[in-house]
Amino acid sequence: MIYADNAATTRMDLAAYHAMQSWLQVEYGNASQPYSYARKPKQALANAREIIAACINAQPDEIYFTSGGTESDNWVIKSSAFSDPDHRETITTAFEHHAVLNSCAVIERLGYPVSYLMPDESGKVLPEALRAKITDRTRLVSVMFANNEIGSIQPIRELCSVAHEHGALFHTDAVQAVGHVKIDVKELGVDFLSSSAHKFNGPKGIGFLYIRNGADLLPYMDGGAQEKKHRAGTENIAAISGMAEALKGNCEYMEQNEEHIRGLETMILNALSAAGVRFQRNGGDYTLPGLMSLSFPGFSGEAILHRMDLMGICISTGSACDSVNTEISHVLRAINLEDSLATGTVRISLGKFNTVEDAARISESLIRIVK
Ligand code: PLP
Repeated sequence: MIYADNAATTRMDLAAYHAMQSWLQVEYGNASQPYSYARKPKQALANAREIIAACINAQPDEIYFTSGGTESDNWVIKSSAFSDPDHRETITTAFEHHAVLNSCAVIERLGYPVSYLMPDESGKVLPEALRAKITDRTRLVSVMFANNEIGSIQPIRELCSVAHEHGALFHTDAVQAVGHVKIDVKELGVDFLSSSAHKFNGPKGIGFLYIRNGADLLPYMDGGAQEKKHRAGTENIAAISGMAEALKGNCEYMEQNEEHIRGLETMILNALSAAGVRFQRNGGDYTLPGLMSLSFPGFSGEAILHRMDLMGICISTGSACDSVNTEISHVLRAINLEDSLATGTVRISLGKFNTVEDAARISESLIRIVK
């Protein structure tokens, strides 16, 4: 099997896997207890926080562990709205992940206004579009770092400056980007950043939220005093340690991984062009390494996916969360892709474990299907 759906999830790093084991079987103490058996898990938490903070240039006490991207997004959107007695507006985009969009739908139903920016046809949210919509009654702006279906990377620093000029806070869902492209929260200026370990070769069900010191957010999960009383629940030390190890590895080899993955990407695109295949790549010029949204006019993306599956290759038509929904995705709608292209769209997302042989088989199989 060739796995080319790394935007849905990734294979765990061996080092991350090993980093998890002793916390499950040997050092399984609860980090919140006062006795000495809790010392090692407590230290592991502190170490993980430090490693993760260093990877995104944050302070360790700005990292809050969560169950993943969905929880981090829910936390920011809902807690930001619910702590505002003035019901000021939230601005987001029409092509966010459903963790953001459905959280926004909830706050809207409860009377907190939300408005939606449209990306341009290349999948970019322009700072001018935000400038045209934002007012001094905007509380939060939330724009994803990189889109999960088409890979387009957003001008986060510029968007964040526009938000701050108007006194609004800025959140970015960086689930697809962390561990794959350089992220420096101080340089970007963001107040909140969501991340998820299983997208960067860490375990599933664990992630973090960066909350800039000074940009306080109401707790989302109520209960015990964990995470400075901001996110209750016994910490999953094994998953947290695995996440930190995976992120450290990906950040250490980020340039090499990117070069390798972009090389495979070019191989596939060149092979399709050389074979005379008619296709369009979506997402503009600045995309996540390895994430290719390809539209084959006149074909069915779903049929291509299933033919590829029969050939032992995993790709996707859109985001994993949309796999039960065969309609044209909200992302392709948002970039205004015409129907004949949208229905013939597949997402191939390569990762660091993919090889030149994988790229060759992916392109050969695609060519065989569409020719
Ligand atoms: N945000 C984006 C952009 C994603 O791609 C995903 C997962 O597909 C999520 C949020 C949800 O993350 P998790 O699976 O950790 O809940």
